[in-house]
Amino acid sequence: MCGKSSNDVRFIVDICEPCTIKKIQSTLPGVVAIRVCKFCGRIWSAGDFVPERKDSLAVAIKQALRQKDCMIDVLESGQDLVKARFTCETQGKHVTFITELKLKRNYEMCPRCSRIKAGYYEAVVQFRGEMGHVERMAAALQRFMERRDAFISRTETLKTGIDVYASSKKLASEFMLAWKLKPKRSYTLYGMKHGKKLYRNIYSVEV
Ligand SMILES: [Zn+2]
Ligand SMILES: [Zn+2]
Repeated sequence: MCGKSSNDVRFIVDICEPCTIKKIQSTLPGVVAIRVCKFCGRIWSAGDFVPERKDSLAVAIKQALRQKDCMIDVLESGQDLVKARFTCETQGKHVTFITELKLKRNYEMCPRCSRIKAGYYEAVVQFRGEMGHVERMAAALQRFMERRDAFISRTETLKTGIDVYASSKKLASEFMLAWKLKPKRSYTLYGMKHGKKLYRNIYSVEV
């Protein structure tokens, strides 16, 4: 393609390495579109919304490019530009090059944020007791939920304590176990799904 000799450059079968790289680069689109949640900023990567990091962004780009034969390492990334190293297999050999790609961030709302916006909750944890303790436990519950990809949709401060509205009753139970709390439990019916009654758990706990 360029007239160079195999004495001067590496060849991939019958094309020199720089021309092989040019050929692969010419198949890359001018712009790579990724899905981004406009509220939490997480990106769609490997089937879920996850925090944007170099590795999750690399997976998102690989999915968008449908590049089965290339491994992608993100070196630098910004709002609308990404610098990446491509390691591609062609004719049984590997070539590596670094290239810049334009990023197009398509904004939407992730399922978790839409549930937060809708005020979704499955459990109410009513912390009662001395206010300093109550506040620390409410904060601990929030951290516990958020580390596990759940959330607190709201909190209500009352004279007697704080009510925390949590998105997962399973995690609320696990929190009680982890802190060796002995709550009084009750339930409220809030709907039906596929013929099954849906209950919200209410935990009333002295701390
Ligand atoms: Zn060439
Ligand atoms: Zn989100």
